[in-house]
Amino acid sequence: DFKHPHTFVIFGASGDLAKKKIYPTIWYLYRDNSLPNNTKFIGYARTKQTVSDIREKCKKYMNVRPGEEEKFEQFWQVNSYESGAYDKRVDYELLNQHISKFEKGPIANRIFYLAVPPSVFEKVTENIRNACVSIKGYTRVIIEKPFGRDDVSSDKLSNHLGGLFKEQQIYRIDHYLGKEMVQNLMTIRFANKIFSPSWNRENIASVLISFKEPFGTEGRGGYFDDFGIIRDVMQNHLLQILSLIAMEKPTSLNPDDIRNEKVKVLKHISAIDKKDLLIGQYVGNPDGKGDEKLGYLDDPTVPKNSVTPTYALAALWINNERWEGVPFILRCGKALNERKAEVRIQYKDVPGDIFDGKAQRNELVIRVQPGEALYLKMMCKSPGLKFDLVETELDLTYSLRYKEADVPDAYERLILDVFTGTQMHFVRNDELTEAWRIFTPILKKLEEDNVKPLPYVYGSRGPPEADDRLATYNFKYSGSYKWQKPELP
Ligand code: NAP
Ligand code: NAP
Repeated sequence: DFKHPHTFVIFGASGDLAKKKIYPTIWYLYRDNSLPNNTKFIGYARTKQTVSDIREKCKKYMNVRPGEEEKFEQFWQVNSYESGAYDKRVDYELLNQHISKFEKGPIANRIFYLAVPPSVFEKVTENIRNACVSIKGYTRVIIEKPFGRDDVSSDKLSNHLGGLFKEQQIYRIDHYLGKEMVQNLMTIRFANKIFSPSWNRENIASVLISFKEPFGTEGRGGYFDDFGIIRDVMQNHLLQILSLIAMEKPTSLNPDDIRNEKVKVLKHISAIDKKDLLIGQYVGNPDGKGDEKLGYLDDPTVPKNSVTPTYALAALWINNERWEGVPFILRCGKALNERKAEVRIQYKDVPGDIFDGKAQRNELVIRVQPGEALYLKMMCKSPGLKFDLVETELDLTYSLRYKEADVPDAYERLILDVFTGTQMHFVRNDELTEAWRIFTPILKKLEEDNVKPLPYVYGSRGPPEADDRLATYNFKYSGSYKWQKPELP
């Protein structure tokens, strides 16, 4: 299929996502000759601009290494831009004519990327369906979150899309599914005999999935305030990770076999209970520097009395034979002490202890970012004459083990997957339905009761109450583990 003409259309080409992510990504894919040879890129938005304007806006997000200048020029030559309205069919007919000009030969494929606000999703998809679908090849549509803001709005969007395209044509991006370590979860679990017998309630005490960001809304809280951290991170990215950790083994690597298992495990999770949720909102740190002095409510685009959470911790319970009683703790926040996304699988204490309670729990840590790593905290005898215990680790640090490997960006993999028609790393309609079923009631309750979030200081680890809560979910923190960073040879 790769020898035929392909057209990649970016709606909202004048926007933030386009300049920061989409254009840089298609450039890297083009540079590495990963895309079909005959691919044309078309930007579309209401703004009157030229390809040079786009090029200028994208400049600081695009890396061009010495020797690539010529290729970079070629890249812009296969780009064009069309200005048009999102709601006028005639403009889409013009776009269609424009695309058709490139499409010589019996087969030609089209991909449409919607980098536009959700308010115009419906109009754009309708018009694509009416005026721009390929008549001699495939038509695929990429959409970005938010996929609604609750069960009702998400269903409405799904029904709308379902009326226009087949599920196989719809690529819902959750960019966490494009991350190396998230893609690695299935291999870790299902290609290693050592883990499978212990991956259950008999052995695992708790599972902690965390996302931490070291900055606040930085004056752009308007959009965020309408959604909050639960919708922004927990309901999608963290729940996706949960499903990959908790699902049963799929019958094959076929995308639908995998997604069937993800949906199945989600179906075993009941809607989040109020007692299993803790929320926070950051306040300024008077001793901090610059932005750290500012709390969420100091952001001029945020309403003064906003109770939108910027931090959340929730325990989810999977009521099946493998996981009953094991807390899956999802935790995420902005304006914290560090940038980090990781999974901690904490094993139970060893029964029949003969070490005077000195043995700490095993913990398998899967660090998604920054710096991919997989380490298993374990106990050893301290080297030497004494018979003491020491906490140590089996450690796989990607930057040390795979020095030459170039871990591609999540968007690079995902956009390439759309070209090859691989839906494994995209969210299926029914996964979305389950995700909203789990989260909508608690989100409604927070709004109805106007629940005030707990304050936490910008740059801290979150509300102090969160650690006490963690302890109630059978997550043990001893503070005794010391890590020695390996020295580079
Ligand atoms: P954006 O910059 O606000 O909007 C993209 C383009 O859409 C704008 O350049 C504008 O183009 C048009 N537009 C903006 N507001 C509009 C309105 N009210 N009515 C009609 N058109 C409007 O958005 P974005 O940040 O690029 O995000 C695009 C999509 O990706 C959104 O669904 C967003 O939620 C999602 N997303 C973004 C990011 C990110 O990092 N930015 C991350 C994840 C998901 P014209 O005026 O030229 O038509
Ligand atoms: P740790 O020091 O035992 O801490 C485990 C986690 O507990 C912390 O990450 C922290 O995460 C949380 N925590 C901190 N204080 C707490 C408290 N009072 N109550 C409850 N939880 C608390 O082990 P570690 O973080 O896994 O490792 C220590 C350091 O070594 C880290 O910097 C780690 O990156 C590094 N290390 C790196 C590698 C590698 O690169 N391959 C391997 C091993 C270790 P939150 O702040 O998110 O709550």
